[in-house]
Amino acid sequence: MDKKVLIADQINEKGIDELSGIAEVVNNFTISKEELLDVIKDFDAIIVRSRTKVTREVIEASPKLKIIARAGVGVDNVDVQAATERGVMVINAPESTSITVAEHTMGLILALSRKIAIADSSVKQGKWEKSRFMGIELNCKTLGVIGMGRIGSQVVTRSKAFGMDTLVYDPYITEKTALELGVTVVDLETLIKQSDVMTIHVPLTNETKHLISKEQFEMMKENAFIINCARGGIINEDDLYEALSTNKIRGAGLDVFENEPPEDSPLLELDNVVLTPHIAASTSEAQRDAAIIVANEIKKVFKGQSPKNVINMPVLDTETLSTIKPYFELIEKIGRFMIQTAKGNINELNITYCGELSDFPKNDVLTRMILQEVLNPILNEPVNLVNATSVAKNRGIIVTEGKRCDAKGFKSLIKVEMKSDNNDVSLEGIFVQTPKIVMINGYPVDVEPEGTMLICKYKDKPGTIGAIGTKIGEHGINIAKMQVGRKKLGGEAVMVLKVDQHVPKTLISDIKKLEDVHDAVAVNL
Ligand code: NAD
Repeated sequence: MDKKVLIADQINEKGIDELSGIAEVVNNFTISKEELLDVIKDFDAIIVRSRTKVTREVIEASPKLKIIARAGVGVDNVDVQAATERGVMVINAPESTSITVAEHTMGLILALSRKIAIADSSVKQGKWEKSRFMGIELNCKTLGVIGMGRIGSQVVTRSKAFGMDTLVYDPYITEKTALELGVTVVDLETLIKQSDVMTIHVPLTNETKHLISKEQFEMMKENAFIINCARGGIINEDDLYEALSTNKIRGAGLDVFENEPPEDSPLLELDNVVLTPHIAASTSEAQRDAAIIVANEIKKVFKGQSPKNVINMPVLDTETLSTIKPYFELIEKIGRFMIQTAKGNINELNITYCGELSDFPKNDVLTRMILQEVLNPILNEPVNLVNATSVAKNRGIIVTEGKRCDAKGFKSLIKVEMKSDNNDVSLEGIFVQTPKIVMINGYPVDVEPEGTMLICKYKDKPGTIGAIGTKIGEHGINIAKMQVGRKKLGGEAVMVLKVDQHVPKTLISDIKKLEDVHDAVAVNL
């Protein structure tokens, strides 16, 4: 087995079993920082939970490392930026905790609606306060779910079993997903005003920070509960305290806090809150699943397949693959063409996706592929889909992606324009059974980009094509195919020749010396 995996934190043994037979696995669950720095150079992959810190120093000491796997969700202990720069994939297991967190959410909802936590503490104090703990049913109540991702949708499924109606606020889900899940999508204000229970399942971002504050508490039903098992900071805790302590709302269930632990929070003194110490994701099943998921992702990478949970690379899911796979070869060839024709430093690459491809949201995979082809031949460090964008940025290459509905009569067309110190090159390509170049520097052609090609720019004048052909013959080179493209009769034209032998530099300079030839270049595709 030529692959080595270091398991640096204790993970469920089912994950370790998955890797046996495919890689040499080294378990060192107590590895120190110094030891890690010393041994990491021998490993292709490392699996961590939260104890081991995969710092820039560790990543830079590991030339073989391809994958950093976090057997869990958050990757705070991994320097993702450093990994991206070095082309190392960072993978995690975000789906491992979805059911676990959804169940905890339901637990908090039930604890609030039936006052379970406070009743428990009362009984343990020797009291029997039956009338104090009158609860409410969930049946026929409205649940408002903010964020309909992995966890939100699991909560919806479970709430249906309790006979709850569901409203969802998530501006980023498609109508198809909403239909499949049988939920009603509404705006945030409607959700807040109509929900008996509101639960939050969005990431903490600039947009969601304090998403629920005084104004939103003012809009809530008087008897409503609010649950947060997502991230502290999405609810403004000062405003929550005010809403709870003035009985503006009925109660809150929190697993996450603005400061953890929430030592001095006034929320700790209230009876109408149920608090848990950020344990919504903590079950043995979630840990087992996280270990199995990351082990399988590592196996995929070792087998040359696309992993699905790479956080520093666009995900190549089945839909993405089937849409863009036909363009992989075209893109590869365009990239190679560009780097072989650039004169001096490349300063700019502008990629325009036209026609059907313009609607596809994950074209950045194709952009990264072009960058990979353009940068790999000129750089010592390996450039891959993970680091292509950051390497280009570090080298000062401006990369733009554009979209155009019109694909000049084709289903889709990709246009790539390169600006280098001393020349500009533009290519337009399509895929119709095979990749084809249909435009070179604005000249229409119809060329299959393969093998050795010679491209000459010349004045469209009788005799020039013949003179070029003669020079090629004098060098013992056979022309397999020839194409000419021109914008107008007698103007500048471009000739693309597919030849059977390698093109020596002497032939290029001989052709360039011919009268009426403006440029010549050979590329190997
Ligand atoms: P996800 O990415 O699958 O889903 C997030 C959803 O939020 C997406 O559907 C997205 O469209 C939506 N969204 C994003 N911004 C929004 C906005 N401004 N308004 C409304 N919707 C918006 O994530 P997930 O795996 O379901 O996780 C949800 C949350 O749970 C995250 O904050 C995650 O960190 C947290 N989480 C907490 C624990 C825990 O231990 N308490 C464990 C796991 C995950």
